[in-house]
Amino acid sequence: MLGYYDALLNLIYPSRCAGCFKLTDDLLCQKCAALLPKLDNNVCQYCGKPVITTVENCRECRTKRLYFDSARAVWAFDGLARDIIHDYKYKNQKHLAGKLAKRLVPLVKNTDLITWVPL
Ligand SMILES: [Zn+2]
Ligand SMILES: [Zn+2]
Repeated sequence: MLGYYDALLNLIYPSRCAGCFKLTDDLLCQKCAALLPKLDNNVCQYCGKPVITTVENCRECRTKRLYFDSARAVWAFDGLARDIIHDYKYKNQKHLAGKLAKRLVPLVKNTDLITWVPL
């Protein structure tokens, strides 16, 4: 439920698709959502990299010391997904934060801490 401030803000600046700016309450309209580079469920359980079959450690992270417990991504970092992340991080589109977080939360249900990927 929206508070008064959010409702007023939404009246002045209605929520728009992050891809084509069409009016929508979601992060993306259906047409743009279909363009996202999706990841399937087969990922390295440690680094989150897409692999053919789910593994504990993939070939790339097996011999490395990574300074986190696990990593996950909602989409492959390409195309429209890359554009949205760049809009959020570099074009001050902070209003995307909540909508992006809603996409991430189902992937990290039993997590103590979520942090950003450093540049
Ligand atoms: Zn769109
Ligand atoms: Zn890995």
